[in-house]
Amino acid sequence: MALRVKALESLMVEKGLVDPAALDAIVDHFEHKVGPRNGARVVAKAWSDPAFKARLLADATTAIAELGYAGGQGDHMLVVENTPTTHNLVVCTLCSCYPWPVLGLPPVWYKSAPYRSRAVIDPRGVIAGFGTVLPDEIEVRVWDSTAELRYLVLPERPAGTQGLDEDALAALVTRDGMIGTTRL
Ligand code: FE
Repeated sequence: MALRVKALESLMVEKGLVDPAALDAIVDHFEHKVGPRNGARVVAKAWSDPAFKARLLADATTAIAELGYAGGQGDHMLVVENTPTTHNLVVCTLCSCYPWPVLGLPPVWYKSAPYRSRAVIDPRGVIAGFGTVLPDEIEVRVWDSTAELRYLVLPERPAGTQGLDEDALAALVTRDGMIGTTRL
């Protein structure tokens, strides 16, 4: 696949159809500027700032845009909050819809048929496979992403983090915690 991409790219550059600098900029954008660290900043701010959290839960798209994360594949966002009695899991059963501005590109397993089917058939089993056994008293809610609406899980703020600032809090937030396959 890498060779085929390289061959196509060389041909297109040779024919003057694409500018290599533009390609580099696009790759750099997705490798360094878009990714789960954006979502982690959203979560850390929600943990630190109750007014922001309220805005985030009321209108996620607008609240997330306050931090500069917006655009394609994140035009309509919904943030779902984990509580001591509720856990949220995100999937796209149809294909691979995923909130790019806050989580970057989806991991390979997110796009796989086994994840897409098992997430709805046996969400507790899927989450256990990622290392978290949820007690029975925690209700699991599964959210099916679409091209129109994409989800971000707001994990619970871990105990013992009272003194931490937003940077330190963001470092605790994982991609899988924001998909819901793990519980922070
Ligand atoms: Fe999809």
